[in-house]
Amino acid sequence: MLIKNATVVDPSQALHQKCDIRIVEGAIVEVAPMLSAAADERIIEAAGNYVLPGLFDMHVHLREPGQEHKEDIASGTAAAARGGVTGVLAMPNTTPTVESRAIVEDVQRRIAEKAKVQVELTGSITKGLRGEELSDIAEMIDAGIIAITDDGRTTMSEDFMIQAYQIIEPHDLVLISHSEDHDIVDGGAVHAGKVSADLGIKGIPPEVECNIVKRDIALAEQTGAKLHIAHISTKQSIAAVRDAQKRGLPITAEACPHHFCLTDEILYTAGNLAKVNPPIRSEEHRAAVEAGLLDGTISCIVTDHAPHTLEEKAGDIYKAPFGISGVELSLSLSYTHFVKSGKLTIDRLVELMAIQPRQLLNLKVPQIKVGESANLVIFNPNVERVIRAADMVSRGKNIPYEGMTVSGDVKMTFYDGAVVYEE
Ligand SMILES: [Zn+2]
Repeated sequence: MLIKNATVVDPSQALHQKCDIRIVEGAIVEVAPMLSAAADERIIEAAGNYVLPGLFDMHVHLREPGQEHKEDIASGTAAAARGGVTGVLAMPNTTPTVESRAIVEDVQRRIAEKAKVQVELTGSITKGLRGEELSDIAEMIDAGIIAITDDGRTTMSEDFMIQAYQIIEPHDLVLISHSEDHDIVDGGAVHAGKVSADLGIKGIPPEVECNIVKRDIALAEQTGAKLHIAHISTKQSIAAVRDAQKRGLPITAEACPHHFCLTDEILYTAGNLAKVNPPIRSEEHRAAVEAGLLDGTISCIVTDHAPHTLEEKAGDIYKAPFGISGVELSLSLSYTHFVKSGKLTIDRLVELMAIQPRQLLNLKVPQIKVGESANLVIFNPNVERVIRAADMVSRGKNIPYEGMTVSGDVKMTFYDGAVVYEE
């Protein structure tokens, strides 16, 4: 197969050049301008398109085992491939929770059988995310998890947090903190501010997040372990992370498209579909997330892909589950918001979406060079499209982006040498 006339962008080798790419039996065998096609060779005309390393989304909920009516490993990884995402880090809040070696091994068997892209696993910090008993973290590390988190909950016990940090530190694993102070959240459903007051919905103030971010930074500092703040959403939390980084601590953070593309005004039109935890906040917080990505304080773009059925998301906003689907939309949303607007180069976007998440997790970074197996995405930045939930590959159609126009779409995705998505 010959990909012709693409602009190859691979910042891991400082490559940004118009090239052809020849792939034979899944391996990249030539990267050079003006390659001529062999007889019978399939030609992919890619003039005006980018070829990027496959993306890695380090925050997805695949829902299997136990919640397959929302998503499963096959549908979730097909959605990832649709979005140019060739690797995901799956959160452990399945049913059962990923909390022991046996469960890790069960999920690994399912992945080997069904996944269309790379799936790496997290283990929970506490059993059932209940915060009452530590999970079998050392055993799970031995079985192959690459991070720990109680995502969906915060581990409120400082003792458990310190014990968890001490277990992971020698392995250079990262603890991913879903930062939510359960002592003060008090049933809020949306960001606390003008919009929540206007709609008469109980709000979630910024302190709910930044109290825990500050606590977790202090605990990480005590133990020397790596801390990663999940789906960071407030000005105060980002300032705390920036300050910790200035002091040389191994603290990182990730942000989601809904936290830099949208403000809580979206609640007026999308309603419950914009209910997510942490909430979509006001403009000052949205701008802070954007600034954190621009100045490098936040090093990864993730989706917090959280599929639910539309039935579950309907009705009483307090009863509807938190969460937005969208592993397949992140590249178009991020490209439109940051690159099309001239705020970031495509090269920087690739660092945020493909390179830095893998580096943080000590995973191999795919490169577009001779000898590598094809792990790449062909992205056409020149098309405009309207986002429709009905077009989505994911079983979760719960998005607040319905009807939004974005620039760019994935034309083909290759993972492990194979085409895993083609438009
Ligand atoms: Zn979370």
